[in-house]
Amino acid sequence: MQIFKSSPEISDYLKSLHNGQTVGFVPTMGALHSGHSALVERSVAENDITICSIFVNPLQFNRKEDLDTYPDRMQADIDLLEDLNCHILFNPSKEDIYSDESRLTYDFGSIGKGMEAEYRPGHFEGVAEVIHRFFNILKPTRAYFGEKDYQQLAIVRWLTEKYAHSTEIVGCETIRDKSGLAMSSRNYNLSAEEYEKASDIFKTLSYCRDNKGSFQPQELAKICFDMLSVDFRPEYFTIADQFTMEPLKEWTDSEYPRAFVAAYCGNVRLIDNLSLITNKNEK
Ligand code: AMP
Repeated sequence: MQIFKSSPEISDYLKSLHNGQTVGFVPTMGALHSGHSALVERSVAENDITICSIFVNPLQFNRKEDLDTYPDRMQADIDLLEDLNCHILFNPSKEDIYSDESRLTYDFGSIGKGMEAEYRPGHFEGVAEVIHRFFNILKPTRAYFGEKDYQQLAIVRWLTEKYAHSTEIVGCETIRDKSGLAMSSRNYNLSAEEYEKASDIFKTLSYCRDNKGSFQPQELAKICFDMLSVDFRPEYFTIADQFTMEPLKEWTDSEYPRAFVAAYCGNVRLIDNLSLITNKNEK
């Protein structure tokens, strides 16, 4: 695996590739786990060259403490990427990516309101800024994102269309451990006891999916929020349309209802989501 730390160098290298070679891109913040591995594996299977980036993007952290405690496991990450046959690791510095002060302004519409946008002001502006810059440097054929960060995936799709990036956005299902807990770099910061407890988040999402028939959306969301409040500090439990991200008042408001949750387990903020469609043609 080649490691690039400078955007002009990787950009020059990519220009030297044969025409027609496809480039898959997996942006990450490191502390890799099996959720990231699934994205890299898919990219390796679908493209000639796979680039994984590790860049802890300061612009998307609204709490300094969160940025300061973000796990760093660079050597283990490099070993894992080698094992996955990833071709390139791109690990630029903040100064490289943000060498100029200019920032775009974004009007995301309904997908940029509520949930993560509400509880992490500026977060999606930071995500959009870094992805826009990465796409301009790498011009990937395809880029792989997890459904674990579902609202982020919607933001990235919006950005790609708005700025006419030629990259195809590939959404990949959430990878969970056997208890149902969504894999996350933040799980590295959970104590053994918290880790065990954290699977209740998925259990609550599943309860929500299984009890759709008995309650209206807002009532059910409140029940789930209260269930989580026993052991967690939930910020939101929202049932929304998975495309517009608008909260549902009635089930007839959306053909694609999805439950979204953010909750603190100890000091660690976890997010997850689950489709509430139970038929065979589940999206
Ligand atoms: P992060 O390093 O947390 O910024 O995540 C990098 C990419 O991996 C994002 O597209 C995430 O949505 C994706 N990802 C993180 N956790 C998972 C998971 N458990 N399953 C699938 N994709 C994930």
